Amino acid sequence: MSCELCDQTGGQLLWRDERCRVVRVGDPDYPGFCRIIWNAHVAEMTDLPPADRARLMEVVFAVEEAVREALSPDKINLASLGNLVPHLHWHVIPRFRNDRHFPAPIWGQPARPASPARDCSALADAVARHLAPRA
Ligand SMILES: [Zn+2]
Repeated sequence: MSCELCDQTGGQLLWRDERCRVVRVGDPDYPGFCRIIWNAHVAEMTDLPPADRARLMEVVFAVEEAVREALSPDKINLASLGNLVPHLHWHVIPRFRNDRHFPAPIWGQPARPASPARDCSALADAVARHLAPRA
C-alpha cells in the first residue's frame, strides 16, 4: 500500500534529521502552518519507543516556539489525527481571531470566506534556530 508521507516530503522542507522532518504546509488560509512528520512509517505515538516519543514532542514544541516567534498568533493548535494518512505526524497551526475558521478547528465549518495574508518571512529562520543543536 502506498503512503503519501513515505513517498513525498509532504510540504516545503524547513528542517530534517535522521528521525523526523519539519515542513511548511502550502495553505493560503493558514500561512505558517507546519507539520512535523516522523520519517519512518508508523501510525501511532505508542508505536515509538519512549525516547523517540520524547524526541518527536521536543521537535513539535520547538516548532511551536518558532511559529509563535515568527507570526505572533492569537493561539496555537496542535493536532495529531492521521485518519486519512496513518503515518505519524503533528500539525502546528498558528490561529488568528480573523482566520477563515476561527474559533472552529481549521477542518470545521468556515466562519468567513478567507484568511488575511500574513508575513511568514521569519518562519524558516526561526525553525532553524529553534532546532539548532544547543551548545
Ligand atoms: Zn508512510
